Amino acid sequence: MILDSFHLSGKTAIVTGASTGLGEGMAEALAQAGADIVGVARSSCDGARKKVEAAGRKFLEINADLVSLEPIERIVEGTKKEFGKIDILVNNAGIIRREDAINFTEKDWDDVLNVNLKTLFFLSQRVAKEFVAQGNGGKIVNIASMLSYQGGIRVPSYTSAKSGVMGLTRLLANEWAKYGINVNGIAPGYMATNNTKALREDAQRNAEILGRIPAGRWGTPEDLGGAVVFLCSRAADYVQGYTLAVDGGWLAR
Ligand code: NAD
Repeated sequence: MILDSFHLSGKTAIVTGASTGLGEGMAEALAQAGADIVGVARSSCDGARKKVEAAGRKFLEINADLVSLEPIERIVEGTKKEFGKIDILVNNAGIIRREDAINFTEKDWDDVLNVNLKTLFFLSQRVAKEFVAQGNGGKIVNIASMLSYQGGIRVPSYTSAKSGVMGLTRLLANEWAKYGINVNGIAPGYMATNNTKALREDAQRNAEILGRIPAGRWGTPEDLGGAVVFLCSRAADYVQGYTLAVDGGWLAR
């Protein structure tokens, strides 16, 4: 039956940036669909752990700073040691730095590109090697942004990274479809998390953004649940290289 193809029972999912916000929300949704979760983050994932365990699934936390490639081997080996295999990777960890392009520093460029694009690529590469060795395919979901489609303002490294994420999602899908690996993206709209705290606290920007969202509200982590479960499930086996916007209509405007 159709709903069975959305089930993730027996699957193991790595979710980066699971300590808060969208990552925590997606970890909960994947667990409710039946997956055990490996949460990767710089800070404690206690919130995600509680939600995953409340859904009756197991949770492994791996503390890692994804600004460098050092943690990649630990993440893969730690997951295999605990769960024996990997089925799903959600590349969600991301940072943003806001400054006028004219004053933007090299550090704010490098940090954002490293976390949001470089590590996303090399972690995907490492996990894809595991998928190939396991011989059962796998699912990779990359978290993109409205700034994969649009230019934005005062976020030059973020726009560059997120535009890169959408392009890379297509490339990886092209190369890895033959192994039964699906690589897709989710482009969240304006979601109420730490990442957008500064925008929501700026009364003028908050009103401008809300006025442009057809749904008339900021998104929530729960809003991504259906999209991530779908893209990580058998129901999406023939969906490849596509970035699905979950944006309250922002891009349609
Ligand atoms: P958030 O700041 O609330 O959470 C970010 C998560 O990434 C945290 O768990 C953090 O620990 C982790 N992280 C950041 N840097 C890390 C590092 N160096 N090493 C390990 N973990 C690191 O942000 P969020 O809004 O939940 O964003 C999640 C993803 O969604 C990001 O990729 C972000 O760019 C993207 N996104 C967010 C929005 C939004 O409106 N909030 C919109 C579009 C895309």
